[in-house]
Amino acid sequence: MNLDLREFATFPVEISLETEADSHEYEIDGISFREPMALKVSIQKIKDDYYCHGSVMVPVEKECSRCLNIFDSELSGDFSFIIRTADAQPAVSDNEGEIFYVKFNEPIVELDEIIRQALILSLPLKPLCDQDCKGLCPSCGINLNEETCDCRHKEMDERWEGLKDLFE
Ligand SMILES: [Zn+2]
Ligand SMILES: [Zn+2]
Repeated sequence: MNLDLREFATFPVEISLETEADSHEYEIDGISFREPMALKVSIQKIKDDYYCHGSVMVPVEKECSRCLNIFDSELSGDFSFIIRTADAQPAVSDNEGEIFYVKFNEPIVELDEIIRQALILSLPLKPLCDQDCKGLCPSCGINLNEETCDCRHKEMDERWEGLKDLFE
């Protein structure tokens, strides 16, 4: 997806658009993207620099790190960057985001990698289908959210047996 500054007559400008989340461009392990991706970008012009701030939100399917079920969720992230034409006078500061140099007559920035990075940063380390997800039984492997088993009780009893030996 491209951001082309020639599409805008005046600044500041705010754009919001919905776009297809092509899973090849945005591929991230353990996540499948669902349509559509919602994107907002505000662009402010200071001297010859264009300061861009954006946010992205996309419905996804994640895999629960405890029970391995696939569940519906969403990812959202923010990003900031500066677009500068190669022959431009630099504006205020350089630490407000990555700077993309573009040709004056072709002021286009490719957004896909920026969006991908924003989404990766927003990923939870351990996605959970529910904060109280009971996960899988470590002994028999059933999903403890859906079924119960006696493995836990057995382990508990065995531990008690061990303790009994200590006291005897
Ligand atoms: Zn789960
Ligand atoms: Zn079990």
